[in-house]
Amino acid sequence: MAEVLVYVDHVDGAVRKPTLELLTLARRIGEPVAVALGGGAAETAATLAEHGAVKVLTHEAAEYAEYLVVPKVDALQAAVEAVSPAAVLVPSSAEGKEIAARLALRIGSGIITDAVDLEAGDSGPVATQSVFAASYTTKSRVSKGTPVITVKPNSAAVEAAPAAGAVEALSVTFSAQATGTKVTGRTPRESTGRPELTEAAIVVSGGRGVNGAENFAIIEALADQLGAAVGASRAAVDAGWYPHTNQVGQTGKSVSPQLYIASGISGAIQHRAGMQTSKTIVAINKDAEAPIFELVDYGVVGDLFDVVPQLTEEIKTRKG
Ligand code: FAD
Repeated sequence: MAEVLVYVDHVDGAVRKPTLELLTLARRIGEPVAVALGGGAAETAATLAEHGAVKVLTHEAAEYAEYLVVPKVDALQAAVEAVSPAAVLVPSSAEGKEIAARLALRIGSGIITDAVDLEAGDSGPVATQSVFAASYTTKSRVSKGTPVITVKPNSAAVEAAPAAGAVEALSVTFSAQATGTKVTGRTPRESTGRPELTEAAIVVSGGRGVNGAENFAIIEALADQLGAAVGASRAAVDAGWYPHTNQVGQTGKSVSPQLYIASGISGAIQHRAGMQTSKTIVAINKDAEAPIFELVDYGVVGDLFDVVPQLTEEIKTRKG
């Protein structure tokens, strides 16, 4: 069976969820071989094996933390040359997309970015993408070289699929460009204790209807009952009520959670572009004619200041 390389996104050995989702998709195409780089790479092996990695190629070197993405591209290229995989899967983070694009260029392959699904095809893996502000769904495959595909978080379930996960050291020679851009400092973002917006299974968003920074507390309270991330429309961000890092939409982040709850958001095309691929969409809006109701699975016509706190209380009661 063909092997499929999966680039492992991890923090000091703790594997991030989008990588486990990639393993689920990789198993549809062939046997997943994970590539884990940098400090803690070997510690990722047990988790990766539990989720289907037949092999884990590791390489630890200070360069991965000290320089930007080129050392990682060098290592992935070495893995491609060692394994001759059927495809290379990379999480669709900003860094993942940069690594994937550079890798595709290096190995002379085509690339597909932001896939939301992946299946085996007669002539190689077929990726599904959501395009033109989610108005169309396209299916495509790479016709040149080893397909390099980045996949958006929440595109597949995390599945237990125990496999050998044998750890093998990857031999990597860094290129002359590897040390070209040095990382001079890292500032950890203040932790809210909530999941990362693009990776969250549930997102609760607020818009202009929230009517003030202080009122976002009711959006956060609902999010915290659900273990969700908080999103915001551009109107709310432009008004200074919530940080731009939380903006959902064309000029913000693109999310694809299991559940998206929009409160006081009208549903402009630019907002839809960032959330329309959510599996279940719920909207709370006092205007029954708001365009958001055209795309929802469940709509509540009502004042968010009544509905959201009631919803939060109800969830709290049911959780006991
Ligand atoms: P509004 O459109 O003003 O809607 C507010 C809604 O809240 C209304 O439907 C109203 O009925 C409802 N409401 C008011 N009070 C209550 C209440 N008490 N209870 C319940 N409902 C209530 N927008 C984004 O979101 N993300 C982007 O990335 C983005 N990028 C853009 C890029 C470009 C180039 C452009 C031109 C625009 C972009 N926009 C983006 C802006 C977008 O066009 C809309 O202006 C924006 O999404 C509107 O935000 P909103 O829905 O919160 O506000």
